[in-house]
This record gives sequence, C-alpha cells and structure tokens, in this order.
Amino acid sequence: MTVKRITIYRRLSQAAFFGVTAAWLTIGSLRCPFGVPFVSCQSCPSTDCPGRSLQLPFIGLAALSGALFGRAFCGWACPVGFIMDVAGKLPKLRATISARFTAIDRWLKPLKWPALAAAIYLVFALNFTEARAFPYVVRTSSAFNIGAVRLAQALGDPAQTVRLGVVIGALAAGLIVSRAWCRYLCPLGAVLGLLNKCSLFAIRRDREDLPRCETLPRDCIMHTRPGTTDCVMCGECVEGCPRGILRLRARYAADPPTDDGNEAPRAARRGAS
Ligand code: SF4
Ligand code: SF4
Ligand code: SF4
Repeated sequence: MTVKRITIYRRLSQAAFFGVTAAWLTIGSLRCPFGVPFVSCQSCPSTDCPGRSLQLPFIGLAALSGALFGRAFCGWACPVGFIMDVAGKLPKLRATISARFTAIDRWLKPLKWPALAAAIYLVFALNFTEARAFPYVVRTSSAFNIGAVRLAQALGDPAQTVRLGVVIGALAAGLIVSRAWCRYLCPLGAVLGLLNKCSLFAIRRDREDLPRCETLPRDCIMHTRPGTTDCVMCGECVEGCPRGILRLRARYAADPPTDDGNEAPRAARRGAS
C-alpha cells in the first residue's frame, strides 16, 4: 500500500505537536485540579503541568490556523486527534462504514453541540467559581508518574473519576469508529468547525463546471466532505481525489476558467452541476 505524501507530512506534524504536549495532555486528562481541564491553566496551582506556558501559544495557533485554514488544527496539530488517528489504524477493530453506520453517524454528529453547551456550563460551574471545589493538587517530577495519577483518583474528586471514564471511553470508541471523540463530542472541535465556513483558504473544486461528487472521499477520517463543519482539513482527499480537481484555494478567489476558456459566472456553472 502506497502512503500518500500528505499523510507523511501530517504524521510528522502531529508527532511533533504530540511530543510538545504529551505531558500537558497527560496531567490535564488524569489529574487536573479543575473540573474542566485545559481551561484555567493561567491560574493553575499545578506547577508541574506545562499548561501554564503552553496554553496561550496553543490558543494563538488554533485561532490563527482557524482564520487561515478552518479546522486544520484538528487535522494537523491536536495531540488527541493524533491519538485518535493512531487508534483508528489498529487493524481488525476498525469499523467498516456500513450503510447502517452512515445513518447512525449522521444522527450522532450533532451531539457535539449539546456537548459544547455542557462544557461551557461546566467551565462556569466548576472552574470559574470563587474557590476551586477540589482543594488538592498532586505534584510530581514526571507527568507520567502512575502513582500520582492513582493518588489523584484516590482523593475522591468525582470530576477526576468522570474524566478518567471519558478518556477510556473516547479511546475505546476511537478503536471502533475513526476519530469518534472528534466526530461526536469534542467542544473545541465544534467551535473550530465553524471556522470552516469563513476561513481565508478552503478545499474547493478546481473545476466548478464539473458535477459535484456525490460520494464521500474514500477513507475520510471524519466520514464527511470538504467544507463541512466536520472536515478537519487533513487534505487527504485533495491528494486522493480520483479526478484531481480538489485544491486548497483562497475562499473568495475567482473561479478558474472552464476547458473552453469561458469565464462563466460561478452561479451559472453551479446551475449546470
Ligand atoms: S495547567 Fe493546570 S488547569 Fe491547565 S491542564 Fe494543567 S493541571 Fe489543568
Ligand atoms: S475535535 Fe477536538 S480532540 Fe479532535 S482534533 Fe479537534 S480539538 Fe482535537
Ligand atoms: S473531507 Fe477531506 S480534508 Fe476533510 S477530513 Fe475528509 S479527507 Fe480530510
């Protein structure tokens, strides 16, 4: 099986970001003293968590990449997305996307909006209160110290237990459905997905005079089309397009001429497709 060039670039980028964020991700998921992790890093008492220095650069990166390329942060930089991609590659456990699953997938994808609403509520209810509800902070010299994770769990904060359950559940679901957490529940992914509708660059057909593909790109990790709020701008369908007409292009650039050299208005060409 030939590996696409874009897949190699993407894996290198994802692995680099994973290397930078692995400790933050581990502490945040397994023993963050706040109810909702990764949010209150600037006022966090966990001095061993690198979130305090990484949070602002990452917010900046997600915002800038979002303004330019929509949800590209999810496809190229997010460490959870990388774990989900690796989990989705494990043989045999990967789901075959059957007709039945496609229907369920369509029903489950909107779940990310109530999940976003719930996350916003929980941030206000658990993090932005006068005092943190959970007073204990477990510190260690290594983010990957399993004893520290056990201790954090044993201290009895229900948020820690719920989070551990979410991590295990997301991993298990990711083994069966590619990017399950990203597709159905991630609040950040839901927000970034909105930027797919207004980013400066977008994946577009180079030839708008040709009929639109009715099939989804083969092996799309999000089981969607470019331009939707679910697309993570991984670019795999650009390299894999059998007709070679998908391109990353400026959203508001004029359409290229058709084969006969006509500059037919875009609306007219859409009408023909
Ligand atoms: S810096 Fe603090 S608030 Fe942020 S993820 Fe780490 S432990 Fe949680
Ligand atoms: S949807 Fe969420 S978890 Fe998935 S890649 Fe995007 S930000 Fe990361
Ligand atoms: S539609 Fe294309 S760019 Fe978007 S997630 Fe699927 S394969 Fe990646």
